[in-house]
Amino acid sequence: MPAVKGVLPVFQFDNSYARLPDRFFASVYPEPVEGPKLLKFNAELAEELGVEADFSDPARLAAFLAGNVVPPGAMPIAMAYAGHQFGNFVPQLGDGRAILLGEVVDRNGKRRDIQLKGAGPTPYSRRGDGRAALGPVLREYIVSEAMNALGVPATRALAAVATGEQVYRETVEQGAVFVRVAASHVRIGTFQFFAARGDNDGIKLLADYVIERHYPELKTTDNPYLALLQGVAGRQADLIARWMGIGFIHGVMNTDNMTISGETIDFGPCAFLDEYDPMKVFSSIDQGGRYAYRNQPGIGQWNIARLAECLLPLLDEDEEKAVEAANAVLKAFGERFQKEWIGVFRAKIGLATEADGDGDLIQALLAAMHEGQADFTLAFRRLCGAAAGTEGDELFLSSFSHPAKAREWLELWGTRLDAEPQSPTERAKTMRSVNPAVIPRNHKVQEALSAANYGDFSFFERLLEALEKPFEERPEFSGYMQPPKPEEQVKQTFCGT
Ligand code: AMP
Ligand code: MG
Repeated sequence: MPAVKGVLPVFQFDNSYARLPDRFFASVYPEPVEGPKLLKFNAELAEELGVEADFSDPARLAAFLAGNVVPPGAMPIAMAYAGHQFGNFVPQLGDGRAILLGEVVDRNGKRRDIQLKGAGPTPYSRRGDGRAALGPVLREYIVSEAMNALGVPATRALAAVATGEQVYRETVEQGAVFVRVAASHVRIGTFQFFAARGDNDGIKLLADYVIERHYPELKTTDNPYLALLQGVAGRQADLIARWMGIGFIHGVMNTDNMTISGETIDFGPCAFLDEYDPMKVFSSIDQGGRYAYRNQPGIGQWNIARLAECLLPLLDEDEEKAVEAANAVLKAFGERFQKEWIGVFRAKIGLATEADGDGDLIQALLAAMHEGQADFTLAFRRLCGAAAGTEGDELFLSSFSHPAKAREWLELWGTRLDAEPQSPTERAKTMRSVNPAVIPRNHKVQEALSAANYGDFSFFERLLEALEKPFEERPEFSGYMQPPKPEEQVKQTFCGT
């Protein structure tokens, strides 16, 4: 479509999902909001998407991004999906407060969804108002961008817009729209939607669609549907290993919050570990600790099993063979995760080679961190200094309330490092490229959200800046590298839906 002059921003839409059969979605227009006001626009991402936007007219930009004006070429839809929420199957969920405007092919040739989250009610809203509150919108903005800067696949933030309207949650809050960019919004729950209806044609159409979009290299394999299941399992195993490496707790790993593309999505009540505790849970709604830090790989595998169930009719005509093939994928998920996890943590402790016993060495450090209540991010960052020999071991050990075990561990580590080819300087440099100095610490996110609720966006802006280069220790951002003081510690997070 040619660029339309004077109507900005211009997205070069090329919608494919909206061309699938009607039962895949509901066509629905965003509900205009009273007073759209641009809070944040990601110009760099807009550039990558090939969006032409006129920043000199933020009011016009805000009207588009809040959904008040639907840009030419958009085919707004709410996607249908189902899902297991905390283990319970809900046959119909769907985008209840998100509207997919359309897709663009970015400057790298990658197809990306542009979605407005909080853009008004849809046929899938159930009892919800279709809106989003300011706090959760800014939280998603911060964490999306942080994850990407940390090198962990996640959806992106294009903009946050205030609606000028109130939303009613536990208290009255300011409304906002989040403009989300994703490789796609197809979830495990999308497959479950068709499986729950016995709609095998729907499952096949969807599988063909996602193979074309996310796994085109699998088209020519002997069994593309089995290869798809293996592909999703592999990407999710890798993704969760990456989460574990940065102390990320998604918080709500329902099957409708797990993508087929392998991007992190819908991390409403997410949080990052402060002190290392494998059973840590932050989400107020996760009473049983189902989605605790340590449970994430197991839940990932459980979710893949739900996807496998949907795909069974496509895997093999012989049901027994289909089940056998699916079980092999689940087993492979566990092995792949384990391999990736060891890879992630080997790099974190500066090992360039593999040796038997590395897994035990890593576990011993984690056990010492647990016992010594060491801050996960800071302890690993300080270990880089210990590797270089410059800061010595003492700074690292000062992260532990009881350093005895950590001190013993340094001995074991030192012996293991004798077998390594890298020089201490090289090792420290590599370690600093995988152990972040800055993460979106819960108390800093909280601080930014609280100030924004009072109209002060300076903390939000500054936090985003700090998170742009997470592997650098920039003195002006040293406050973002410190663990919370006891009174600053965030104990619980909320979905904010
Ligand atoms: P989430 O917990 O954000 O992954 O959402 C779970 C389901 O609830 C999805 O189907 C959402 O679209 C829906 N939902 C969440 N919040 C709202 C809301 N305020 N209005 C309508 N639907 C919602
Ligand atoms: Mg969701």
